[in-house]
Amino acid sequence: MATIFTKIINGEIPSYRVAEDDRFYAFLDINPLAEGHTLVVPKQEVDYIFDLDGDTLAGLTLFAQQVAGKIRQAIPCKRVAMVVLGLEVPHAHIHLIPINSESDVDFHKPKLQLTPAEFEAIAERIRG
Ligand code: AMP
Repeated sequence: MATIFTKIINGEIPSYRVAEDDRFYAFLDINPLAEGHTLVVPKQEVDYIFDLDGDTLAGLTLFAQQVAGKIRQAIPCKRVAMVVLGLEVPHAHIHLIPINSESDVDFHKPKLQLTPAEFEAIAERIRG
């Protein structure tokens, strides 16, 4: 069965798209730790990121680098953290999280509650 991220990539489930090319897709995390918290995924459905072939893993990282640059232009922050962890969705993904301190990356913190209009406005700012 397709993962929820594959359904997002295929447009069967809506998402706040930030960037896309033929191999990768970036969209806002629906439970964000910060405004601009983005997930970057390969369109190829592979569960564990280190099971990706080397070329896809390198491409995913370079795609994340481009997206992080856009996030940093759109969202005031010191840096954009790149985090890979979590066992929830069996589809490799990188979290890009705007941060001002290391404690901003704490997945046990309450998540931001944003309206659809707020999500869309953030995605639009990042898309530029
Ligand atoms: P994890 O596997 O622990 O990294 O968690 C998966 C991440 O995907 C979580 O941060 C969720 O908030 C996020 N997520 C799950 N479903 C969606 C969705 N439909 N749209 C955007 N983000 C999602």
